Amino acid sequence: LPVVAIVGRPNVGKSTLVNRFIGRREAVVEDVPGVTRDRVSYPATWTGRQFMVTDTGGWEPDAKGMQASISLQAEQAMRSADLIVLVVDATVGATATDEAVARTLRRAKVPVLLAANKVDSERAEADAATLWSLGLGEPHMISASHGRGAADLLDTILENLPETPRERYAAGGPRRIALVGKPNVGKSSLLNRLAGEQRVVVDDVAGTTVDPVDEIIELDGKTWQFVDTAGLRRKVHTATGHEYYASLRTRGALESAELALLLIDASQEITEQDLRVLSMIIDSGRALVIVFNKWDLVDEERRYDLDKEIDRELARVPWARRVNISAETGRSVQKLVPAMEEALESWDRRVSTGKLNNWLKDVIAATPPPVRGGRQPRVMFATQAATRPPTFVMFTNGFLEAGYRRFLERRLREEFGFDGSPVRVNVRVKD
Ligand code: GDP
Repeated sequence: LPVVAIVGRPNVGKSTLVNRFIGRREAVVEDVPGVTRDRVSYPATWTGRQFMVTDTGGWEPDAKGMQASISLQAEQAMRSADLIVLVVDATVGATATDEAVARTLRRAKVPVLLAANKVDSERAEADAATLWSLGLGEPHMISASHGRGAADLLDTILENLPETPRERYAAGGPRRIALVGKPNVGKSSLLNRLAGEQRVVVDDVAGTTVDPVDEIIELDGKTWQFVDTAGLRRKVHTATGHEYYASLRTRGALESAELALLLIDASQEITEQDLRVLSMIIDSGRALVIVFNKWDLVDEERRYDLDKEIDRELARVPWARRVNISAETGRSVQKLVPAMEEALESWDRRVSTGKLNNWLKDVIAATPPPVRGGRQPRVMFATQAATRPPTFVMFTNGFLEAGYRRFLERRLREEFGFDGSPVRVNVRVKD
């Protein structure tokens, strides 16, 4: 479905507007100081057409942080949405932050609509007219809380919204990599190392232009697209330690990527924060290479502890390839590309239905599904429904226990590989 992104400062009424669009009031709350909220998408319908509404939430306490947060929203909306609505509080007028984000959005390749919210008096209407100065065309006056103007805005959105989501990436282009991990694991160091030059860190806070977000790097004679690296270069923000930025950036990067390079600091204990990033990767269904960085600081004792932590914490992803490197010294960095290529090959791979069912017949003959309720379920047929990641559907005539499903998945991997890629197995029960 096409995606409409709503962006704007906290408290301008974004969430109220989203609630209007999706026709309910409960789910979304207004930004609350100190409460961080991830981006959420909701399905919406208007005059019979369906689309998704994305609410980029977020609150940053200081003005500097706020501006950065909103720019990040705008950047991500420009990457992932088919239409953007910038919401501005008409009673306040255009703030410096609004102006900065409007400047960014003027370069968007998708339609941008300006919504002037909180227009519930003639006075406010006059105020709203000043918002033409943002250079985003006519300010659409609405009062999100009273519902005024929302219907007209929705009409305008649908007039400008393409029927189908745009193709964001050409087929056959460079493979897209998300470099992710908690702050200070060495993401920028690795990016610099791979790019083969020491890049200047741009300290662009107040309203300067947004960098192109991706970086194309040639490695082993092939081009790779490292997505959403602008946030890495804008060190000043990650350095403030707002985990909110990190998670917003990670999610956006994963959305655009095919493979995640998860950086973990090998010299320190694996933390909750590492595991949160890992969970995001697992949810995203992307191929995965785990990179243990700062290997130059790992001594024998640490190595022993790390092995134990890996067994304990990374048991969910036994299929992920692991590479130990030092971004600082460059040690073993050349091992990354082969691991990435292998993972992507698995992620793309398709097993023919014939091969799959020959394998299935043998496995089931050797180890039939456990009897349940006096009945022996049969697995009749399997097919690979999708690639990227490989997704299989197995048709049965009865319930398959979770343990047996895991067994099938394990055997599937043993037979067909898929190292570096998640594999999904769905079971359909047919009577
Ligand atoms: P980011 O926040 O993930 O981008 O991390 P940075 O690339 O800024 O690195 C954080 C700190 O770790 C910096 O002081 C780097 O110099 C240091 N660092 C990065 N990689 C290595 C490494 O392989 N070995 C050592 N010893 N230090 C590293």
